[in-house]
Amino acid sequence: MDETAALPAIDTHCPYCSLQCGMGLRPVTGAVPVEVVERPGFPVNLGALCGKGASAAAVLAPGARLTTPLMRPHRGAPLAPVGWEAALDRIAVELSRTAERHGRDAVGVFGGGGLTNEKAYLLGKFARVVLRTSAIDYNGRFCMSSAAAAHSRAFGLDRGMPFPLEDIPRTGCVILVGGNPAETMPPFVRYLRELRENGGTLVVVDPRRTRTAELADLHLAPRPGTDLALALGLLHLVVAEGRTDEEFIAERTTGWPEARAAAMAHWPELVESITGVPVPGLRETVRLFCDAPASMVLTARGPEQQAKGTDTVSAWINLCLATGRAGRPYSGYGCLTGQGNGQGGREHGQKADQLPGYRRIDDPAARRHVAAVWGVDPQSLPGPGRSAYELLESLGREVRALLLCGSNPVVSAPRAGHVAERFAALDFLAVSDVVLSETAATADVVLPVTQWAEETGTMTSLEGRVILRRRAVAPPPGVRSDLEVLHALAARLGHGEGFPVEPEKAFDELRRASAGGPADYAGISYERIAAEDGVFWPCPSAGHPGTPRLFLDRFATPDGRARFVPVQHRPAAEEPDREYPLRLTTGRVLSQYQSGAQTRRVDALNSAAPGPYVELHPRLAERLGVAEGAEVAVVSRRGRAVAPARVTDAIRPDTVFMPFHWAGAGRANTVTNPALDPVSRMPEFKVCAVRLEPVVRAPAP
Ligand code: SF4
Repeated sequence: MDETAALPAIDTHCPYCSLQCGMGLRPVTGAVPVEVVERPGFPVNLGALCGKGASAAAVLAPGARLTTPLMRPHRGAPLAPVGWEAALDRIAVELSRTAERHGRDAVGVFGGGGLTNEKAYLLGKFARVVLRTSAIDYNGRFCMSSAAAAHSRAFGLDRGMPFPLEDIPRTGCVILVGGNPAETMPPFVRYLRELRENGGTLVVVDPRRTRTAELADLHLAPRPGTDLALALGLLHLVVAEGRTDEEFIAERTTGWPEARAAAMAHWPELVESITGVPVPGLRETVRLFCDAPASMVLTARGPEQQAKGTDTVSAWINLCLATGRAGRPYSGYGCLTGQGNGQGGREHGQKADQLPGYRRIDDPAARRHVAAVWGVDPQSLPGPGRSAYELLESLGREVRALLLCGSNPVVSAPRAGHVAERFAALDFLAVSDVVLSETAATADVVLPVTQWAEETGTMTSLEGRVILRRRAVAPPPGVRSDLEVLHALAARLGHGEGFPVEPEKAFDELRRASAGGPADYAGISYERIAAEDGVFWPCPSAGHPGTPRLFLDRFATPDGRARFVPVQHRPAAEEPDREYPLRLTTGRVLSQYQSGAQTRRVDALNSAAPGPYVELHPRLAERLGVAEGAEVAVVSRRGRAVAPARVTDAIRPDTVFMPFHWAGAGRANTVTNPALDPVSRMPEFKVCAVRLEPVVRAPAP
């Protein structure tokens, strides 16, 4: 008899995306120590999981993950098993030596949007207090930073969604821009279905007719990189048709005349010529959006991952403000954050310009507050550092040694071939991860750390709901937690105190560090999260109920008014030309997640999504002589990626698409453009100029 059969399931959450679906983990006997079971009581997903979540336990199997530290004695030597003490000693010595030889900023830290709040918080503290380096950033910069920047400058606060998911079915119209939740987070789709069942309408903006677009009342398919012009054209029509909410504009906003003037320069026919979206589609969108008693705009990576991503999101926010669709029940702008803790990861100090509580590192009052919690002199804290891509670009030059946690930039960063060269130029690389990712495989030391089912900690979902991940199973022998790693390294580097290994202790310190800041967690405790199915920040005191809905009374700006930001359309950093006549856009598929470091190790997911492909329109395929399944090279100024062709009329004829989950020859990010948004420093993953070349294989000898 299976002795574990009677054991109760532990309530926890999926390890992957920002929806943070509730799930149960029940201990079982066998190589995989738990099974995923439904947790129907968690309100966000009501027990539903996508294939990624349902199969997540597979990565716990010993064969799928790291269970011993690895080290190479010198560059060129293979990685070999080593004891923990030797591995930690080596990292401490190399980081110290680099700082002594080249200065503190020559030691870098790179984090991830999948780390718990506790890890992100202590990683930031480790960089600022122990290493005293400004060189820290994280892969969330690639994921949602443009929406964060636009949110902050319009509303004075960045929380991806300022309202809970449960509000979506209660609005009248949703414009979903550049997101495909039917593949990236399928349980989310129930909110869109309920919206339509309640009589609401869905407009999807995407260059591809995705599974999400197929659910929509209206699908607009702009050229990649033109979402900004599209939003301006809609705002132009709103003004021209007298659909503005003048009372709301007068009472709750500033900056309308300038934003209005910018929009009026984008008349519908011009916008059609830029975007490829016919004027009737623009007019119908305005009708659906403005006829509804309440409406929302939700953006995802499509408009955000552009060299003008911040301005693009601002244009969509301007549309909401001009129509009075913000700061009111069931209306507003929201961002569908991507990574599991993309929200919390950017709030607690692993971002180059931030301290815990979403404080700015260049704010003297913020520095004083956090330094007091940390027991250090505010003057000792470094200033702002480089953004993620700029940090990667500096490897082997300014930054000579790097500690990287839970990230795989060799696959996920733009211009990835170049990024791999920068990693190779480092004097020293240490990686802590669950699996031997492509980036970990290049390290000098690799530390095997616990993963979601083996650890406790908090995550902050796309709604701003702080939830509790619970340990359901002991890690295998030889595996330690990231908190234990930071504690051990800090101790070796002269900071024996201040790096707790117990997650709840770390969270209690995070609460104090965040108190009074924009993302105030002071009133949130593990007990409350467990009792209340999560708590929405800000929550400044134990008696505070949390804040599911922001901005209903006032926006978080000094004068309480939302700020219009006047923005103008501009071309992508790289437009098509004779040599590179097509636009490439990249994205995700249903059965893989981000760089694929975990999901490519799950048989069920690999069977469903075994490898990369190039999606192209039948007319383009015919013109190039490319047949379905034939290998084709996508070539840009940065390199070439090769994958089988997938011919479909669901994509524009001037655009090709590649998913970015794979390494090797089919690595989409070999081709992508690292042009950065000037405000958010987010790279332009979503559009670059390419050409397609059929791949002709030499006949076998
Ligand atoms: S939608 Fe996201 S959080 Fe939910 S099961 Fe799938 S990957 Fe996990």
